[in-house]
Amino acid sequence: MVLNLNTLQQRVTGKVITPDHPDYHTARKAWNLTTDQYPALILIPETVDDVIAGVNYAHETGLGIAVQSTGHGIQIEANDALLILTEHLNAVSVDPTTRTAQVGAGVRWGAVVEASAPYGLAPLLGSAPHVGVVGYSLGGGIGWLARKYGLAADSVRWIEIVTPDGILRRASETENRELFWGLRGGGGNFGVVTALAFDLYPVAILFGGNLTYPGELVSETLHFYRDWVKPLPDEMTSSLQVVKLPDLPFIPEALRGQTQVILRAAYAGNPDDGAKLIQAWLDWHTPIQNQFKELPFTDIGTVSNDPVAPSAGYGSSETLDELSDEVIELITRQMTDSSSPLMVTELRHGGGAIARIPGDANAIGNRTATFFMQMAGLAPTPDRYEAVKQGIHDYKNALRSYVRGGVYLNFMKGEESAARIEDAYTPEAYQRLLALKRQVDPDNRFRFSYQLVRRAS
Ligand SMILES: Cc1cc2nc3c(=O)[nH]c(=O)nc-3n(C[C@H](O)[C@H](O)[C@H](O)COP(=O)(O)OP(=O)(O)OC[C@H]3O[C@@H](n4cnc5c(N)ncnc54)[C@H](O)[C@@H]3O)c2cc1C
Repeated sequence: MVLNLNTLQQRVTGKVITPDHPDYHTARKAWNLTTDQYPALILIPETVDDVIAGVNYAHETGLGIAVQSTGHGIQIEANDALLILTEHLNAVSVDPTTRTAQVGAGVRWGAVVEASAPYGLAPLLGSAPHVGVVGYSLGGGIGWLARKYGLAADSVRWIEIVTPDGILRRASETENRELFWGLRGGGGNFGVVTALAFDLYPVAILFGGNLTYPGELVSETLHFYRDWVKPLPDEMTSSLQVVKLPDLPFIPEALRGQTQVILRAAYAGNPDDGAKLIQAWLDWHTPIQNQFKELPFTDIGTVSNDPVAPSAGYGSSETLDELSDEVIELITRQMTDSSSPLMVTELRHGGGAIARIPGDANAIGNRTATFFMQMAGLAPTPDRYEAVKQGIHDYKNALRSYVRGGVYLNFMKGEESAARIEDAYTPEAYQRLLALKRQVDPDNRFRFSYQLVRRAS
C-alpha cells in the first residue's frame, strides 16, 4: 500500500506529525541526546482508540512500530517507523484499599510518588523520578526498595496492551498469562502498553542519601563496600558509584578529570536502625560530603540526584557474583585513568527480595546476581560516542573472566540489545520469549525494543 501520511490523522483525535511538520524535529528527540531518529511519522495519541488506529495503520502500510514514553531507554532508533509517543496517556490513580496504583502509558514515576504519598504508600521507582513507569517496569526496575520488595516488574498486577493485531487485551495472572509473563522482561516486543497496575508499599519515610569520598580512596572504598553489604538486612538497598568527571569544556576546569566515590543508599525501616548502619562509614573515614538523613518518601530522588535535563550518554552493564580483589583493581584502574572516556562505574547491591522471587515468575533474568554493574560515559559528539563505546568494550574485555555473563535489561543499550540479548535471560526464558514473539508479533512489527529476533542485515 502507498503510504498516505494524512490518512492516519483522519482516524485519530491525537496529533500526527509528518516529516515536513514544524514539530517533527522536536518530537523525534529522546531524553538520551545520542538518539537521532527519523520516523516515517509520529503519533501522539490522546486515547486508547488512537493507539488502536495507529497500530492498524502500521499494519495496513507495513510500517514498524516504536513506542516511546520519556526516551530514557531507546534501544533501537525508530527510523522509517511509526513512532508512538505516549506522553498524553498520563492518568494516575491510587487505590489505598488494595494498595495499588493504575497509570497510563505516559506516566513518570514522580507522578505516582506524589499520588501515593498522601496514603503513606510508595511505588518501586528507580533512582530517577522522571523515568517512565512502563519502560522501566517492562525491563525489570531496580530501585531503592528493591532488596525489600523486589523489582518493579515483580509487583505489576496487570497490563493493558494493544497487540499487533490491533486488539486491546489485558494480561495478568488470570488473563493472557503467557503474555503477562513475557511482557515483564520482554519490553516493547508485544505491542503498545496503554495502562499498567502495580502494588504500592507502606513506606512513608526512609533513612537515605549519599556520601562522597575522594578519588584516592577508590580501592579502599570498594573493599569496605564489599564487606559492609554482606550482613545488610533487606531494608537497606545501596549502590557504590565511582565517578570520574570527563575532561570536557562544560565541566568546571578544577573538577575535570577528578574521581570521586559516592555511596548511595536507602533504608526502608526504622530510621534509627538505618542511621546505625551508615554510621559504620562515618567511623571508617570522614566523607567529604554526607547527605544522609531521614527523608519523606517524596524526596526519594535526592538519594541519587540523577540529572533531569536530557543528556547524551552511552552505557552498558554486567552482573557479578562477588566483588573480587581483581575486579576492584580493574575498576580502580579504569576510573582513575585520565585517558579513559568512562565517567561512571556503579555497583548496585542485589540479593534480598530481588533474588528470592522465583526465576520463572516473569521473564527477567539474572535476578540472583550479587551486584548489578553499570558503566557509562558522556557522549556529546559522535567521536566521543565512539570513544566511550570502545572504552566500555575494552573494560568489559578486561572484566570478562570475573563477571557472571549476564546483562540487566534496563541498563542495556542499542547494539548490545542485539548482540547480547540472550545474556539477559535464562536459556528457557529466552526460548519461551521467542515462541511468544512468533505467536503475538510474527511480522516483528515491534522491532525497536530488545532484539529478541535478530534482524537480517
Ligand atoms: C537517569 C536515568 C536513571 C535510571 N535509573 C534506573 C534505575 O534506578 N533502575 C532501573 O532499573 N533502570 C534505571 N534506568 C533505566 C530505565 O529504566 C530504562 O532506560 C527504561 O527503559 C526507561 O523507560 P522509559 O519509559 O522512561 O523510557 P522510553 O525510552 O520512553 O522507553 C524505553 C523502552 O520501553 C518500551 N516502552 C516504553 N513505553 C512503552 C509502551 N507504552 N508500550 C510498549 N513498550 C514501551 C519501548 O521499547 C522503549 O524503547 C535509568 C535511566 C536513566 C536515563
